[in-house]
Amino acid sequence: MKYVCFHCHFYQPPREDPWLEVIPSQEDASPYHDWNERICSECYGPNWAARRVDEKGRILEIINNYEFISFNFGPTLLSWLKRHKEETYRKIIEADKKSKKRFGYGNAIAQVYNHVIMPLSDRKDKLTQVFWGIEAFKYHFGRAPLGMWLAETAVDNETLAILAEQGIKFTILSPRQAERIRKFDGDWQNIDEAHPLDVSTPYRCFPRPGLSIDIFFYHEGISKGVAFGNLLERGEFLASAIESAFKPNSLPQIISIATDGETYGHHHKFGEMALAYNVYHFGHHPEIKLINYSQFLSLHKPNFEVAIKERTAWSCSHGVGRWHRDCGCNTGLHPGWHQRWRGPLREALEFLRERTDLLFERLGGQLLKDPWAARNDYIHIILE
Ligand SMILES: [Zn+2]
Repeated sequence: MKYVCFHCHFYQPPREDPWLEVIPSQEDASPYHDWNERICSECYGPNWAARRVDEKGRILEIINNYEFISFNFGPTLLSWLKRHKEETYRKIIEADKKSKKRFGYGNAIAQVYNHVIMPLSDRKDKLTQVFWGIEAFKYHFGRAPLGMWLAETAVDNETLAILAEQGIKFTILSPRQAERIRKFDGDWQNIDEAHPLDVSTPYRCFPRPGLSIDIFFYHEGISKGVAFGNLLERGEFLASAIESAFKPNSLPQIISIATDGETYGHHHKFGEMALAYNVYHFGHHPEIKLINYSQFLSLHKPNFEVAIKERTAWSCSHGVGRWHRDCGCNTGLHPGWHQRWRGPLREALEFLRERTDLLFERLGGQLLKDPWAARNDYIHIILE
């Protein structure tokens, strides 16, 4: 059986003024008040009312894409939507409930609470990010999450172990983050140019003895073609790229396409229409079925084990260099600029963390039985 899954990672940084707790006017988002408003109007809104049109451009159907795709919303963005875009928020929550009826499992997965690069955090901060992400998910969707998205897909084994400890069953990574694979108890095979990863099947990872989590690796060529190429120019381009990605055998295969969700409508105008075309196309396909990750795992368990490349991410080819050193990654817009400031900035932030941790433990310990457990529980106050 052949399956396709679209995953959208929706996120905006919190833009609220910390003193006023509202977003100040952002002129470069004009004619909108700020970037949240603008991206909502270009992407988060249109994706629950996406037009599927005929060859003459006449509207055939209005589709709520969220009912048919796997997705995660950054918890702080979801809170903003709840406060300011009630209808969009409701359509997203509703879509998760409807997808549960369709696939047996809801489409929504959780996200680490902020957009923290997990491998650069210490264990207690990682735990808080995962715990807060799970609690925020339960608050919004009314159920426990099965999957969790890692910001920038930044990963290390300690992070995967914490996800598994907290009951998370799967995550999604770039195929470049796989180090080696093997059949359970077979011989290891390194993943390299000569031995690329087969992304049409999930893998089981054992980040620590006794703990496991499953990993889906997205299809890099198609995902890049969606995010940075022309695959969204016409729905047919994307559909035929997906159809030709399957191997000609009868084994269960899943092709998953993972991108920033803003790709559909914000980065590519009318991208939500190409997505609507595809959810209809694969919703009525003779050979390829739409699925979400949870349903796939309920039908087909992994047959292979994977070991991941420690401290890597989808958007930096130098491990997680982008967030702590002058690794060479830049926007390309300013050839004379450098990023040598990243190292000292990261060191300063780590120094600050170490000092405030000590203060928090000493002063918090006078009032709280366990300051770090209290911090984890504090999410319930934030959510109210
Ligand atoms: Zn880099």
